Amino acid sequence: MWAICFVDLEENSETPFIKYEVGNGRDIFVCLDNWYSMLSLEKRVGTRIVYDAVSNLQAKLSDFIREGRWYFPPPISHELQMVQANLPVISSGTVDRVVWTLHNSGKYTSSTAKEAFREHRDQVAWRNLVWFKGYIPKYALILWMVCKGKLLTRDKLKRWGCINDDICVLCGSVSESLDHLFFQCGFAKSLWTVVKWRNGITRSNSNWEEEAVNAIKEAKGGSFEARIRSLAIAATVYLIWQERNSRIFKDARHNWEYVLDRVNESIKDASWNWRAERNYRNWTLCKHWGLYDQIILVYYRLGSERFCCFLGYCSL
Ligand SMILES: [Zn+2]
Repeated sequence: MWAICFVDLEENSETPFIKYEVGNGRDIFVCLDNWYSMLSLEKRVGTRIVYDAVSNLQAKLSDFIREGRWYFPPPISHELQMVQANLPVISSGTVDRVVWTLHNSGKYTSSTAKEAFREHRDQVAWRNLVWFKGYIPKYALILWMVCKGKLLTRDKLKRWGCINDDICVLCGSVSESLDHLFFQCGFAKSLWTVVKWRNGITRSNSNWEEEAVNAIKEAKGGSFEARIRSLAIAATVYLIWQERNSRIFKDARHNWEYVLDRVNESIKDASWNWRAERNYRNWTLCKHWGLYDQIILVYYRLGSERFCCFLGYCSL
């Protein structure tokens, strides 16, 4: 179980959790193990090039070490030339050592492994919320920065000495932190109340951490409903940020209802050709957001266009 998870983590991680320190080279596969610059040679230069160099993908490093020194054949490509110019130091007279990179001691600990799993799982969850099928790049970028806590809100700018006043420009009452601006501010709360209702979500507003966990759950999967929900979240976050910037840099103010209309327009524009599955939840979602094109599509599939017209949601 752990081994399978590690394979998955290693495949998707930018930094491997396990690397090798070279001793006699008898336990390290040249091609597959992480002994060279935190990567396997296969990942670094490609299987073809490694095969051309060593002729055997099962070869061990010991085949290329003699008396504590590297003994590779002359390089036959630029990539191999670079590899051979930067080979790691051999710990002569010792066996190979496996190093757990997540702990300073190099030894495996279950706590660091659990933490790595948790972070990996969270990263995947964020990615699904931000980069769903049909995402809008500029919305995704701002939402991603909010998820990572990287947006330069006024409380941070004040701490760094860039500005003297960090009061939220949307409500003018308290310091502008990320949590306040997007979730606790009266302006944002009014928006989220309607956005959530239109998304078919009835729970009340909360802080950023809880909202984030719930948003990830509610936007899970690639269904029409999940995509509309994700789009609504991304559009709301982006347009709150834009309204904040508009007030600071352009001295132009709009109320939350105006921003809500723009969220709605964004959803209509982005989703006009998305295909909704036939079900009542999608029909309700389309109705709430005024997505008439999708309502027509939903009921055309049912052969119920007359029912659709009867309800007054299309112009047939
Ligand atoms: Zn505020």
